[in-house]
Amino acid sequence: MQTEILPALTGDNELNTESIDRAAALLRVGEVVGIPTETVYGLAANAFDEKAVAKIFKAKGRPQDNPLIVHISAFEEIRELVSAVPEAAKKLADAFWPGPLTIILPKSSRIPDAVSAGLPSVAVRMPSHSVARAVIARAGVPLAAPSANLSGSPSPTNAKTVFDDMQGRIPLILDGGGSRVGVESTVITLCTEVPRVLRPGGVTVEQLRAVLGAVEVDDAVLHQLKAGEKAASPGMKYKHYAPRADITIVRGSLAQFRQYVAEQAADAFVLCFAGEERYFPHAVPYGAAESDSEQANRLFDALRELDALGAKTVYARCPSLDGVGLAVYNRLIRAAGFHLIDLTEE
Ligand code: AMP
Ligand code: MG
Repeated sequence: MQTEILPALTGDNELNTESIDRAAALLRVGEVVGIPTETVYGLAANAFDEKAVAKIFKAKGRPQDNPLIVHISAFEEIRELVSAVPEAAKKLADAFWPGPLTIILPKSSRIPDAVSAGLPSVAVRMPSHSVARAVIARAGVPLAAPSANLSGSPSPTNAKTVFDDMQGRIPLILDGGGSRVGVESTVITLCTEVPRVLRPGGVTVEQLRAVLGAVEVDDAVLHQLKAGEKAASPGMKYKHYAPRADITIVRGSLAQFRQYVAEQAADAFVLCFAGEERYFPHAVPYGAAESDSEQANRLFDALRELDALGAKTVYARCPSLDGVGLAVYNRLIRAAGFHLIDLTEE
């Protein structure tokens, strides 16, 4: 299969309707298309078409027990996806949609098991990216879409990276520029007694609490599941976001980090904050120390860059756990296989 990349925006950021029509036509006949969203690029198919959804799992090599997020272009479209819309969902949608928040609710009978991976619930999001919204609206169906990477690789934040992973596997990728947020959506479930964050993202826990009051954070966000423990969000149990290099997060001041790295092998790489490159012979920066949104925006590209540079051993600066930093840490600790050295404890 030839994989085509089409520009989805014109020079002055207007929608390229010809490209959007092409994508929508492919989606309507059960094909899979790579589309831009503000979080990361998605691999989209008609959420009501079981065969089309099966193609997503095949293209990614995704385990069948990892459910997909269903994307809508207007709030009312949620009604055919879920069995009821509680007040909390309306509040969240008012505050954060369109945007990087996924809401989990009991599913309707229209959601195929392939989408929910057999769970009684479904994950729903309304993206803010103009191209994603236009494609959903034009296709006329909700789109199931996981991140557009091969399963286990860092999520793609531009069309070229989608092409690197999906070349020959899907017919079309729409190029809508770089993803603004850079990490996947925040996932919150409303199926628990107290709403619970299963995955941190661009909408922060602090922002969710301001709207809902009590919000819990699932243990799997920060910690590795123990053997045999069941994940509330199946995606959290997989080794994820992983480059080929062995990564260790080193928590501590810049001075402590520099001293630690100086004692390691001379060919080791560091994943540092912007501006710190000058202290290390092999360094890839992932955003300024004081900007969690910049770190989120840069992280996955930086991980892929380390692979491209042939890095085998990587020491990473530790992000803060506040705000969007929690999402950055959640992805990085998985990329590091939960390997963390804490110099602040000494
Ligand atoms: P991705 O599509 O790659 O961004 O991953 C979607 C994430 O949402 C994964 O971590 C899934 O496990 C999670 N997810 C999707 N649907 C559900 C659901 N019904 N219940 C719990 N987690 C879900
Ligand atoms: Mg993914």
